[in-house]
Amino acid sequence: MEIKLIGHDCLYQVEQLQQALFGVDAVGSAVSEVRKEDGIIHFFTQITVGDKVTCGSRQLPAENEDIRAFYRCLRQSYFDAALPHLPEPPAWGALSGVRPTKISTKHLLEGGTAESAGELLKNEYYVTPERRSLAIACSESTVRAVKLMEKQDVSLYIGIPFCPTRCSYCSFVSRTVGKKPGLLEEYLQALLQEIEMTGKVLRESGKTVRSLYIGGGTPTTLSAHQLKKLMTAVSSHMDLSRCLEYTVEGGRPDTLTSEKLAVIKESGADRISINPQTMIDSVLSACGRPHTAQDVRRVYGQALDAGFRDINMDLIAGLPQDSFDGFCQSLDELIAMNPSNITVHTLALKKGADLFENRQKLPSRQEVARMLDYSREQLAKAGYKPYYLYRQKYMSGNYENIGWSRDNRDCLYNIYMMEELHPIISLGGGGMTKVSLTDIKLERFHNPKFPEQYIQQFDKVLSQKEELCQLLKTL
Ligand code: SF4
Repeated sequence: MEIKLIGHDCLYQVEQLQQALFGVDAVGSAVSEVRKEDGIIHFFTQITVGDKVTCGSRQLPAENEDIRAFYRCLRQSYFDAALPHLPEPPAWGALSGVRPTKISTKHLLEGGTAESAGELLKNEYYVTPERRSLAIACSESTVRAVKLMEKQDVSLYIGIPFCPTRCSYCSFVSRTVGKKPGLLEEYLQALLQEIEMTGKVLRESGKTVRSLYIGGGTPTTLSAHQLKKLMTAVSSHMDLSRCLEYTVEGGRPDTLTSEKLAVIKESGADRISINPQTMIDSVLSACGRPHTAQDVRRVYGQALDAGFRDINMDLIAGLPQDSFDGFCQSLDELIAMNPSNITVHTLALKKGADLFENRQKLPSRQEVARMLDYSREQLAKAGYKPYYLYRQKYMSGNYENIGWSRDNRDCLYNIYMMEELHPIISLGGGGMTKVSLTDIKLERFHNPKFPEQYIQQFDKVLSQKEELCQLLKTL
């Protein structure tokens, strides 16, 4: 859909909401106008789809200089114009960003109640009742996580952007190890240096690690020996005495063995992720995942034997060749296994994924909605609570990914990272370090994206560390 702006240049805000409400392939046009007249800012949107033309408008006193109020009116006028074109009210109303919990979290942290947060989401952003409850539950978890924070806290992410093969829906920067066998070892050598350097930065700036996450890709693509080397470097160079949670993302069950699980446990990690995505073999095969549901069961048992009690398992709603019944069967089996966390993702079909080019039969938006409804009901019934959520572009039905936990075993890293509550220092190729300076100002440091660039431009990785150190000292 085309967008024409008059009297303002907030293309990002309008485009983000348009994509969330109409998707990326919709045809039509929108005019978004802002005009100042007689002490009033007028917001006006006109949307044309086919021969249907609709309008929305809002007003704000001109003396109001709050940029958030400005954006809110811009979005509300767009939302009013869009609503008559939509088949049903959108689940997340006029909230278009990746973190729909930000508003309710801020409200609770400023002393608001769950009830008043619900009113805010309902009256200002038109969020549906189910999503309001989800957002508020997640915001309450965030408030609990905030209470555990101290001034010197940072969280650490270490990325291993390698996988044994590529899943058909994957659009991550992840290298398939078989194609370049030496690259993984070369990457690991560089990463060990970055870990050492980061340890020095943390000591000099007086920061300590509160949560640690080794993710990917699939970190367990590394051999047991390489995992040992990596995790030994972490514990030698970082002070983990205040670390509340240490996760290694096992991810693909075909990369996990008893030996690797033992190494991970002995090296200090207390949380692991084993991601089936579905427990239906034909769906796994349609996704290009070379493992079976039986592999998931085997690895889960091995993880329990290795002593892990904090285990996350991921499912995806909307996978190719899946059905409502298949999804329910997968979820029921995971609930019966009783891991501490279950994360329910909604398929996001992005450019760069094989599935984007070679479309297979995908469940409809309505079917995905039923899957998510079922997951909310069953997880709640089994004693799981939602603790963090986020959205991505190009998600089926513009829904969300939700982390569920039982017995308050929320993944702190996920909350700190998603809500940008303290510095998140990311190591490895594609790592993005984020340091919040105020609640709207964020400093970012990017590592080179691909493993090859990360190795070749390693000087840049190291030189950024000095800048990071100076910044951390100011916090
Ligand atoms: S395991 Fe994850 S990162 Fe690796 S190819 Fe599959 S979706 Fe991508």
